[in-house]
Amino acid sequence: MILKQLCQLLVIGTLTIAGFAITACTGSEAPDAAEVSPALAAIESAAPIGSLMPSSAPAPEQAPPGTWHGAREGVTFYPSGENIAYDKPAPTVHPKLTEHSQKMVPGVYQVAENVYLAYGYALTSPAMIVGDDGVIIVDPTEDVTTSKVAFAELRKFSDKPVKAVIYSHWHIDHYAGVGAFTTAEAVASGEVKIIAHRDFMDNMIKNSTGGTGPIIAARVGYSLGSLLDSGPEGTINGGLGPRFVIKDPSLIAPNVLVDDVLEITIAGVRMEIKWIPSEAPDEIAVWLPDLEVLHTVEILQGESFPNLHTIRGTRYRDLELWFKGVDTLREYPAKYTVASHGRPISGYVEIAETLTAYRDAIQFVYDQTLRYINKGYLPDELVEVVKLPPHLAEHPWLGDFYGGVAHSVRQIYFGELGWFQGDPTFLAPTSPVRASQLYVRLMGGRDAVYAAAVAAAEQGDQQWAAELLTHIVRINHDDWDARNLKAEALRQIAYTHTNNNWRNWYLTSAVELDGTIDYSRELDIQAPDMLRAFPTSKLVDSFRYRLEAENTLDVHMTMGFSFPDVDEAFGLEIRRGVVQFYEHMPDTADVVLEMDRATLIGLLAGELDFNGIDGVQPESPQAALAALFQSGDARLTIGTSEDFVKFFSYFEPPSDEPIPITLK
Ligand SMILES: [Zn+2]
Repeated sequence: MILKQLCQLLVIGTLTIAGFAITACTGSEAPDAAEVSPALAAIESAAPIGSLMPSSAPAPEQAPPGTWHGAREGVTFYPSGENIAYDKPAPTVHPKLTEHSQKMVPGVYQVAENVYLAYGYALTSPAMIVGDDGVIIVDPTEDVTTSKVAFAELRKFSDKPVKAVIYSHWHIDHYAGVGAFTTAEAVASGEVKIIAHRDFMDNMIKNSTGGTGPIIAARVGYSLGSLLDSGPEGTINGGLGPRFVIKDPSLIAPNVLVDDVLEITIAGVRMEIKWIPSEAPDEIAVWLPDLEVLHTVEILQGESFPNLHTIRGTRYRDLELWFKGVDTLREYPAKYTVASHGRPISGYVEIAETLTAYRDAIQFVYDQTLRYINKGYLPDELVEVVKLPPHLAEHPWLGDFYGGVAHSVRQIYFGELGWFQGDPTFLAPTSPVRASQLYVRLMGGRDAVYAAAVAAAEQGDQQWAAELLTHIVRINHDDWDARNLKAEALRQIAYTHTNNNWRNWYLTSAVELDGTIDYSRELDIQAPDMLRAFPTSKLVDSFRYRLEAENTLDVHMTMGFSFPDVDEAFGLEIRRGVVQFYEHMPDTADVVLEMDRATLIGLLAGELDFNGIDGVQPESPQAALAALFQSGDARLTIGTSEDFVKFFSYFEPPSDEPIPITLK
């Protein structure tokens, strides 16, 4: 029990990375033209592209699949494999969403002479820049397994050793595939550079151990569609790429840090790596001056309107920073762009036009929302008036496939003003359940409301049907007729949308309501690599979100944690409903647990070797911790085992129960 508690409590339970959430506690119980700038105008048009292709390279296709934006000069597509997005037309899929999937045929885009983008294998497209005696990788995908497939395709064009990997920012889909490209040993030996912004690790950690990890873990599944089948009645594509697949994440900490700008030559390739806070606060873009190639990373988020807000849940994003970040990209005289989530663009004019449209769309939404906020408009009124003008709404890089204007507009209101909309009636409104009881009674009772919902659905007003049924379900979660009818209404709404996040959410809520949801599909990732990269202090500090405050209002108890192998010590003081974390060993600890950090990580990662200890079953947590105490690998230097158990009893163990999202 002790070990289980330790494992469950000591880490985080869930890491939330870029809003994508992964479960980290992995013990044995473990459970991101209009106008051409003067600089561009001065540039001549391009020289023809030569070929460095090895004879083993696959045959190129004349035209890239799907709709294509920009000139094609200097870009060659080498297709490989089946589209893993669902790309067939169906009555349950918006035709524009099908078209969006059809862009995602996997393959390698060769840009200029020696930049290759493996597109269509995962949400993120890793880029490979081939230099004199090695290659540079930009943005491993979200997963080692899918990265291996992508890298195998890239390897058809060069077998030179990897000299550097660049993480464009801290979101998991930009680093977790690193294990496919290099090893921690190669990085430690100095053979391979890992380049990221100086805040990369801090951001990764800060946004991983935050108190909202469990709920975001639950919500991310709804947004990404991971609990759904791929297909005409399920998930279609990942918005930014064919599919978000994460089974095998890895992490190697960066060893070359970027401040404002880093000019560096690797394998003979000159690069300017520039910090451009935007979609993420630590975003770095890569400019290859000799090739005129600009890697726009996720500052251009992909061939979609950007996720100015994520419905899965995130803190407010600074939109002024974002569109000004795109302006920084516009200063580069790029002839080609590659991106973490979209296909390459060729041509000075086409690039300038796309960047301008992208930044204008962000500024338009932000400025116009503020304009109407200042007239007193409320969130539901703002979405009626703030809509992209046709030249932006119909731009090929601004479709409503991932981010969306409506959910961004609402969030700007909340981000700028907060939740209170001004009518004091709703400073302390009637509780939702009581309000539904009163409404249903007023409307003539459950059967009358249900009949009205059936009539609304039959007339095609699925939204009103769902709203009416919400009152019935809220009062009685066992009203299966109402649940099933609401589920069907949400499905019908889903099929009309192009936005993958919205579609997935409606459909996942439908299976939650009709009881067919398969929670075993929730993302549940074993991430020992990430645990190893975590500071010990964060592992201990994360306890506080689980304190059962109501049981400790008269408790004052302090526990110390000592990790002699790394010469670190920390403390947690429970003090009447609050637990304070100390970066040092408290003087007044009632109980002190001592073990090596390596043992702790091994314990949490489920990697301890218990062979040779009689009677110990590695799968038995009680026995495992007892064995650690017995073998001396863990010990109490102050206090008793009773004190130890008592201390941990004040913390709430993580629940295995799914968190209800829609059934409320
Ligand atoms: Zn991303």
